[in-house]
Amino acid sequence: MISISHLSKHYGTLAVLKDINAEISKGEVISIIGPSGTGKSTLLRCLNLLEQPTGGAISVDGINLLDKHTDVPKIRQRMGMVFQSFNLYAHLTVIENLTIAPVKLRGKSKKEANDKAMDLLKLVGLAEKAHSLPEELSGGQKQRVAIARCMAMEPEILLFDEPTSALDPTMVSEVLAVIRKLSREGMTMMIVTHEMEFAKNISTRVFYMDEGLIYEEGSPEQIFENPKKEKTKAFIHRLRSMNYHVGSPDFDLYALQAEMQVFCEKHMLSKELTSRVILTAEESLLIQRDFHNLDIGLTYSEKEGSLTLVLESSGDPFNPMEISDEEKQIGLLMLRNMTKNIHYSREADRNKLLLEMQL
Ligand code: ADP
Ligand code: MG
Repeated sequence: MISISHLSKHYGTLAVLKDINAEISKGEVISIIGPSGTGKSTLLRCLNLLEQPTGGAISVDGINLLDKHTDVPKIRQRMGMVFQSFNLYAHLTVIENLTIAPVKLRGKSKKEANDKAMDLLKLVGLAEKAHSLPEELSGGQKQRVAIARCMAMEPEILLFDEPTSALDPTMVSEVLAVIRKLSREGMTMMIVTHEMEFAKNISTRVFYMDEGLIYEEGSPEQIFENPKKEKTKAFIHRLRSMNYHVGSPDFDLYALQAEMQVFCEKHMLSKELTSRVILTAEESLLIQRDFHNLDIGLTYSEKEGSLTLVLESSGDPFNPMEISDEEKQIGLLMLRNMTKNIHYSREADRNKLLLEMQL
């Protein structure tokens, strides 16, 4: 359906896209992941010609998009794009947002456009908001309207550029649910996203972008569980871990706990395990001696079925598990009960305490 070959995009001397090659078939759902600044947005913008590529070719059903004779607006209508910021027309009602383009650009009758718009609003769960103004909607609702508005143009492919990253965390799932529904209906989609669980569950293929290339591509299992190349491995590894630095005994324990909570939620760990690991972190901090340069790391690997907490501190060699202080004995006992394994080592002048959680 879409064929991209040797696509490049330079901004002055900055080569953002160097050599992008991909074939996308009808009904595929492609997630595009990678560090920021690696050209993910630029790729989507080149695909629907919001940016003029520097070189290479893009063809849709055999029609070369970059040919001077190609009817660009017509091709562009076949690719709907959903942005981070919803870009709804503020002075138009929801249903007017959905009908304006089909009537003006595709010559549909008002009735036809209205019927279609109501079907789409039902699809995204917002039929009762048809006559509301965008300002009366929540962020998640606005984004669902933006998706319906795209669909109103009957595109053959939908391009999403981080559709949930401007949303309040409580509204992410309603938007993802709509995208999931579209995928079940066979919609072809390319989605730039940071929602890795979602990407893993919904995609037929994952593109990891780096160095101006589709640096590595594969099935979600291949990319998330078994990346082959260095940078992909490092990126996936970073996703699995959370790091927190402590610089003094007066550090903000609640901020640390909140970060751990978010991390556990992101990986869909149970409430029981979440509170156990948070308590384990708190107890193991209580038995530390030196807080001026302490690093806390939490790493989760679904594949290996492990959740590991690591505390690394500076100062003289000190194994907190060997404390004889009676007051702290109860804390040590709790730690042993909450974990599967605790291991102390001295590495590069740092005290490293590794606590393996029982999943
Ligand atoms: P990503 O979406 O992966 O975070 P982008 O595609 O937004 O990355 O940007 C890739 C690089 O291109 C960045 O270094 C960005 O600063 C640069 N860039 C993007 N748009 C422009 C532009 N219009 N002019 C100049 N540089 C740009
Ligand atoms: Mg971007």
